[in-house]
Amino acid sequence: MPKTNLTSEIDARKHQDDAVRERRNCKDCGTCFIITIGEANWYESRGLKIPARCPACRKKRRAMARNEKS
Ligand SMILES: [Zn+2]
Repeated sequence: MPKTNLTSEIDARKHQDDAVRERRNCKDCGTCFIITIGEANWYESRGLKIPARCPACRKKRRAMARNEKS
């Protein structure tokens, strides 16, 4: 089998991971953000729910949680 076939197969899989699975509105700020198939698989493989907040709000909340602990 030619090597190029394998490469294109991997590319196709990677491309699929980047595809939009769903659009959500952030629970906190209302910003529309996307969940890619790759992200959804990542959360599901860990038994986690797909986040309800945009990446910026998630980051903010993580920083706040850190501050509260210290
Ligand atoms: Zn947000």
